Amino acid sequence: MMMDKRATEAMVLENEVANVTLDSIGEAVLRTDVQGKVTYLNRKAEEMTGWRREEARGRPMADVLRLIESVGGPAVGNAVGIAIQEDRATKETAECTNCVLVRRDGFQCGIERKVTAIQDQDGSVTGAVVAFHDVSAARAKSLEMSHLAEHDALTDLPNRVLFKDRLTQAIALAERQGKQLAVMFVDLDHFKKINDSLGHDVGDKLLQSVAGRLIACVRRSDTVSRLGGDEFVVLLAQVEHAEDAAYSARKILRTLAAPHIIDNKSLDINVSIGVSTYPNDGEDAEGLINRADNAMYEAKEHGRNNCRFFRHEMHARLAERQSLEADLRCALGRNELLLHYQPKLNLQTGEITGVEALIRWLHPQRGMIYPAQFVSIAEDCGLIVPIGQWVLLEACKQAQTWRDSGLGVVPLSVNVSAAEFGAKDFLSGVRAVLIATGVEPQHLELELTESVLMRDAEAAVVNLLKLKAMGVQLAIDDFGTGYSSFTYLRRFPSDALKLHQSFVQEITADPADAAIVSAMINLGRSLKQRVIAEGVETRAQLKFLQLHGCGEGQGYYFSPPVVAEQATKLVEDGIQARVVH
Ligand code: C2E
Ligand code: CA
Repeated sequence: MMMDKRATEAMVLENEVANVTLDSIGEAVLRTDVQGKVTYLNRKAEEMTGWRREEARGRPMADVLRLIESVGGPAVGNAVGIAIQEDRATKETAECTNCVLVRRDGFQCGIERKVTAIQDQDGSVTGAVVAFHDVSAARAKSLEMSHLAEHDALTDLPNRVLFKDRLTQAIALAERQGKQLAVMFVDLDHFKKINDSLGHDVGDKLLQSVAGRLIACVRRSDTVSRLGGDEFVVLLAQVEHAEDAAYSARKILRTLAAPHIIDNKSLDINVSIGVSTYPNDGEDAEGLINRADNAMYEAKEHGRNNCRFFRHEMHARLAERQSLEADLRCALGRNELLLHYQPKLNLQTGEITGVEALIRWLHPQRGMIYPAQFVSIAEDCGLIVPIGQWVLLEACKQAQTWRDSGLGVVPLSVNVSAAEFGAKDFLSGVRAVLIATGVEPQHLELELTESVLMRDAEAAVVNLLKLKAMGVQLAIDDFGTGYSSFTYLRRFPSDALKLHQSFVQEITADPADAAIVSAMINLGRSLKQRVIAEGVETRAQLKFLQLHGCGEGQGYYFSPPVVAEQATKLVEDGIQARVVH
């Protein structure tokens, strides 16, 4: 008897110790008897269910621990009953990983729960223990993480991964319903200029503003995504005809063209849009995005701020471009590049004032390729920088050969493209070539097109001044085509203006062009520039230029670009006769 009492006391004490222990842990614990009636709740379980221990005791567990599968979802099955029946004494069940606990006052929170059957010493089941804890914060975090993984941090738009996913689903739906859809590739024109000149902060805000307007332009069922940089892509999920996509594209062009007010500054930005449609232009997400990208590229080439639809010829053109690009990567190493030289003449005396180096590519299969076909490719893939260095060195070496052979000094012009001019080591490269070849800086003229200079006129002024300080001559190429502002023209420290051949060729046919050319000659003279007319092909054009006081000329009428040996002969023999007669 005595022993029994002690044993009971010991058990009570043990129970109390156990309860105190259970109260102090972070996990909520609920015990039931074999019928699934509640026998115990620890403090945490009281807090989470809203039931006090005394009130809950004896009630069916489902009343106290009200569980649903997700917020607003169906009730969760009776795991306790199952655990007891199946006698999972040793196995823990954690099958309800996504369930929601409804507190007595209706408040809901996500929990994770484990159910374990309890056995007595004989091994028969006497009830179950349910342990659970609040996982709402962790779930919210993981939702946030998956949102972050699928969205662009700057604009909160779906990123490429999510966009492709949505596009793939939309394609599957369109296929089932026999419908069309369209993918629009939207790229900001000259965004880099804004970023570079006004700073990344302004650039970022501009991208956010663009994102907002794009969303406002499309339907809720459409998806706007930012692929990165200044590239956006739009999925138009419901398209009846191609005209619907054209309508949306026009709307986007119009909406984005209105000034964006960023930090109290009004910024104008245009976009180029390329469109591809399903099923015409491709059957899968990747193909449709690529083709919209191709079409966007084409839109940019045709003057920006416009929209192009993908055409199959575009694809062929792109494949051709890619094949040329691959070959061009090897061209330098295989010695396939060469220079032709075209003389420039003094239009009064007929003397050769210099030669312009013009690049050619002798392709092993395709034969001679002219710069119009590969310079823009080289610019796009960055190859223009090493190619330009080669041109400069090769031309200066030729000048050195002419000088050493006793032909005297032949001033040399070399064309410089935007990527070269903007490259960090351009100036030091020019200096190195001059030193290596011994060409006097004043005998080298660099030709920069007006559009290259105007792209970032402020930076251009700085760079030109540095070149000028080095002593090289500077010419503005394709003058008249790049919308130079007069402010900048005055600030560019150039020595010569080269009138674009399109004006020169019309001077005898079109009175308007004649007036423009004579005005440009006067402008050049008043800015103290040498004026060089390009593309002189006829005697009549020559006469006009002479009459209007144009200093120099270049063109087929005098000589086409020729290989070095022929250029040597031209310089030796002179071609005054073409001018003076
Ligand atoms: P550009 O600087 O305007 O060069 C003049 C172009 O007009 C040359 O074409 C020349 O062959 C052509 N031309 C000369 N006289 C006449 C004429 O009387 N009538 C007509 N219709 N055309 C004439 P080319 O050699 O095909 O070069 C085209 C463009 O490629 C050049 O235009 C220049 O911008 C670029 N380029 C050429 N060589 C280089 C180079 O080494 N580096 C870079 N970056 N660009 C180059
Ligand atoms: Ca030129």
